[in-house]
Amino acid sequence: MGETESFACHVPDLPELAEVLQIGLKKNYADVQVSVVECPDLTQEPFRFPVKGICGKARIADVGGVPYLVPLARLDKIYNINAVAKEIELPGAFILGAGAVSHRTLGENAELILSVQAAYGDKAAVNGSYVARISPAGGGCVLEKYSDRYTDCDFGLLSNLYASRGEPGKPPEFSTCPLNTDEDVNLWLKFFEMRAPLICQSVFVSRDPGFDLRLEHTHCFSHHGEGGHYHTDTTPETVRYLGYFHPAELLYRIDRPKETHTVGRD
Ligand code: ZN
Repeated sequence: MGETESFACHVPDLPELAEVLQIGLKKNYADVQVSVVECPDLTQEPFRFPVKGICGKARIADVGGVPYLVPLARLDKIYNINAVAKEIELPGAFILGAGAVSHRTLGENAELILSVQAAYGDKAAVNGSYVARISPAGGGCVLEKYSDRYTDCDFGLLSNLYASRGEPGKPPEFSTCPLNTDEDVNLWLKFFEMRAPLICQSVFVSRDPGFDLRLEHTHCFSHHGEGGHYHTDTTPETVRYLGYFHPAELLYRIDRPKETHTVGRD
């Protein structure tokens, strides 16, 4: 799987974190309310996650990277969620985030919206991920449940993952989320306007301690057949975000590309 480096994050207490987010977000959004709340039951609508919360031994894993996709895709770069869970010393973790599919499994390039309860002991993994791909027929976007067609827990190229024990707890909640507005748009990307509500899985870090991290990565799914990689909102006057976040204690950098660049990080 490549080399793994790790870093202990500074974890501020939640009221302090809420205040910092409130001040920062207010610079970008008209109305912002950040508070420390009980995590909603994520097994319920609209989330339908396999676990109740996103707390307990929270970690971030940044696996692979954009240099494995651009300029040329490294199709040999294939990873496995259960192996990642062991690598971050949290077997059985609930892992969500944004990544790319395994070319070995799908034979194509597609967005992976990860939501997996990793295997633990003799308990098999529960894969609730979604795949968003371009339809070969109409050129539109198609969202599918991963487990409807595939049985593995693999992914390829890169992923930005948030892992926890999936326990209930108190994440700071905020009504909007920070955006990376870099307009470095790759021409091969296809953009679709999508309808709300979208359930977004954001993983972000406030600072790169020198691991060539992707600072923000958000994939979204819905229960109405739309999903993919989040770029920006198209209705800035009316858009509303409701977010539940929890700070990570540790960060793991797995299989960092040796040759790097800054293209395509949006
Ligand atoms: Zn993405």
